[in-house]
Amino acid sequence: MEAAKLSEHAFVEVEPGIRRLTLPLPSGPKHVHCYFLRGADGWTLVDTGLGLMETPWEAILGELDGPVVRIVITHMHPDHVGGASEAAAATGAPVTQGRLDYAQCERVWGSSDWPEHIAVWFTRQGTTAAIAEELIESGHVFADFVRFAWNPALVEPGDEVDGWAVLWVPGHADGHLALHRDGVLIAGDSLLAPITPAIGLYPESRPDPLGDYYDTLRTLEALAPRVSYGGHGETIDAPALRAREIMSHHDGRLDRTTSFLTAEPRSGFDLSFDLFGRELPPIQRRFAIAETLSHLERLVATGRAHRHEDGRTVAYTAPSSGGRAPL
Ligand SMILES: [Zn+2]
Repeated sequence: MEAAKLSEHAFVEVEPGIRRLTLPLPSGPKHVHCYFLRGADGWTLVDTGLGLMETPWEAILGELDGPVVRIVITHMHPDHVGGASEAAAATGAPVTQGRLDYAQCERVWGSSDWPEHIAVWFTRQGTTAAIAEELIESGHVFADFVRFAWNPALVEPGDEVDGWAVLWVPGHADGHLALHRDGVLIAGDSLLAPITPAIGLYPESRPDPLGDYYDTLRTLEALAPRVSYGGHGETIDAPALRAREIMSHHDGRLDRTTSFLTAEPRSGFDLSFDLFGRELPPIQRRFAIAETLSHLERLVATGRAHRHEDGRTVAYTAPSSGGRAPL
């Protein structure tokens, strides 16, 4: 097979010792950035794109002045971890991943019953049978293209990788890691511009991902890196400011969410139509429901909403309902 070509401007030096590789994606933000960090013994590659796309690793590696000696995964979403096994084969480098992130990666992409499991969970959130069916079908198709690396070297927050501090930045993914050194943040999807990272609630995830994400944003604001390189979109020259902007974005969405709560229990599925509109294909609806639920759970955690569960369904009300007078 003819070696795939690198498109122009896909591989650039963003500052001395840091090169950014941009790979195409079939959907969503349409591209993902991976980063090469120069170290004493060679290059560290951060993230690997999607296994579905053919990545011209030979051409890419030919442009580097030394070997890739390790691969670090920021989080287990397909566009970051999906190309890991191919990248490991092309470079001969070991893959490093966070302990929590790898456990979830294996559960979601490495177990054959996950699509059915997630469909049952979404059905409890009010999702229609048609959308649940679609989730099962697309889940099985998609899992085939997520070629993560089995049994990677595991790291924990607080560890160091080639002089880079490993930070835990949960929210977009529970086990999301970022690298920080000398005022440079390799953020993965923890801090993005101009889009904001999706923050969703999923089965077997931490209970309040948006609460986690507010903590992450406060941490990044206090850290105040000089620059942040993210997994999608633009380089961020004022990361602390961007963290504050994203916090106020979610403050606004939390307020909007409360405006749709009533004394009658409403499901996350139902409320997702108010927050994200009615015209979404099933795959987008799934993200809209997960994002709606992360906001509802933050509201529950702060006393601004009530959750009602009867074993079959989960629904939410305004906190003044249930016979109690409004405060
Ligand atoms: Zn991503």
